[in-house]
Amino acid sequence: MPDSHHRNRMARKKAVVDAAIASADRDKGLLLVLTGNGKGKSSSAFGMVARSLGYGHRVGVAQFLKSRRDTGEEAFFARQPGVQWHVLGDGFTWDTQDREADVASALRGWTVAQTLLQDASLHLVVLDELTYLLNYGYLDATQVCADLAARPAGQHVVITGRAASQDLIGLADTVSEINDVKHAFRAGIRAQAGIDL
Ligand code: ATP
Ligand code: MG
Repeated sequence: MPDSHHRNRMARKKAVVDAAIASADRDKGLLLVLTGNGKGKSSSAFGMVARSLGYGHRVGVAQFLKSRRDTGEEAFFARQPGVQWHVLGDGFTWDTQDREADVASALRGWTVAQTLLQDASLHLVVLDELTYLLNYGYLDATQVCADLAARPAGQHVVITGRAASQDLIGLADTVSEINDVKHAFRAGIRAQAGIDL
């Protein structure tokens, strides 16, 4: 391909990109949903926590864990100034062995999430693994969506977890579905500190 042809093509491409950038001129507190079966949902959310802290913003994190375990993200972020870190679901497993206890814990956890979603000083709120609580019917989707919609105007929220419901996807501004192409676990490799937890 002659150089001039390539240059012209790139110039046209640049004009289109520049026009798109110029027309995206609004700010908004975003709702992001990171879903799908592949690895990278929670770690992406914690990447945004790091970014926000880099600008000196305050951040709230609620982890709705399937089972309690120590993680690198908690060890690091929970001690950073400007971070509120809540591990919810400690001591039970969301495994519906005792549905009533799971529902009660989910509701208790959601009251903590509500305090984050009402706190205008928080630039970013991460609701890690929230999707399961909605999918199991532990939390009322209408209530959760209403609380998300009523949050302070500039507050960003990231929700992670597999199989995000249509309610959440409909409400979200940005949705990524992370595809599982390969995972080391299936080759017999256990979770690696710093990579998986
Ligand atoms: P991460 O926290 O690494 O970003 P995730 O939030 O996308 O992962 P989860 O479903 O929350 O995924 O699972 C967390 C743990 O399970 C991590 O140790 C991760 O490596 C592992 N994991 C994620 N996806 C898969 C998969 N498809 N197969 C096996 N293990 C997985
Ligand atoms: Mg996760």
